[in-house]
Amino acid sequence: GEGLPRPERTRLMVVANQKGGVGKTTTTVNLAASLALHGARVLVIDLDPQGNASTALGIDHHAEVPSIYDVLVESRPLAEVVQPVPDVEGLFCAPATIDLAGAEIELVSLVARESRLQRAIQAYEQPLDYILIDCPPSLGLLTVNAMVAGQEVLIPIQCEYYALEGLGQLLRNVDLVRGHLNPSLHVSTILLTMYDGRTRLASQVADEVRSHFGEEVLRTSIPRSVRISEAPSYGQTVLTYDPGSSGALSYLEAAREIALRGVGVSYDASNAHIGA
Ligand code: ADP
Ligand code: MG
Repeated sequence: GEGLPRPERTRLMVVANQKGGVGKTTTTVNLAASLALHGARVLVIDLDPQGNASTALGIDHHAEVPSIYDVLVESRPLAEVVQPVPDVEGLFCAPATIDLAGAEIELVSLVARESRLQRAIQAYEQPLDYILIDCPPSLGLLTVNAMVAGQEVLIPIQCEYYALEGLGQLLRNVDLVRGHLNPSLHVSTILLTMYDGRTRLASQVADEVRSHFGEEVLRTSIPRSVRISEAPSYGQTVLTYDPGSSGALSYLEAAREIALRGVGVSYDASNAHIGA
């Protein structure tokens, strides 16, 4: 990796948006791989019962594999379920199995049901620069567990009609969790995904998002790219599947921007490595 500044303490980013198909999983795994390639130690926690992040990282997550379900519901130590991601040094994954589909219900009757993930992470002793949590497309107890554990919320927004619709509910949930359970939670990062700069619609939506959120929106946006959508079927991120592609370069650039912001260094887009 090219050695970006590392955060002083572990940055925990909750990748959330209750809409499906906006690029949460794609962003989680590709950003995580990018940060690792920049030299960071990164853990991806797959909190979606679909297990798409686990699949995309090439991590075995058939029903018998120790998983985040065991951590949340059976209080199993996180260290016992974390697996190294093949081919990307410094990248790790706590996989989701289909068991997790029942966790939303099973958690309801458990003690400290909102803070079980937080406790598991606090007890995890391996040094990490980033933890990225891939949330399911809902605002139930799994997402609440992520928001209680984390400091930062990263919202991927797809540049389409109705992009902002439903975000109000997500932002209210962030406020509720901040008010009642986790005072340090805030929306730190908005990432425009599947951006097609040739269409007027995409640039209109991007302008709307930027005027609504301002500084939280990353300067880097992620283009629509076939290579990005192909990579998961090979159990790879686009960073190893096609390292020179526009998709790979844009995620590397988004990672650089996030890392620099984290240490208070202002990001200069004119130094962007994309297309250079
Ligand atoms: P979510 O996790 O929010 O449901 P995904 O990350 O699974 O969304 O993305 C939804 C679909 O869009 C997937 O098929 C994924 O491969 C595709 N996709 C995501 N980002 C891009 C992109 N930048 N270019 C092309 N396809 C993308
Ligand atoms: Mg997903």
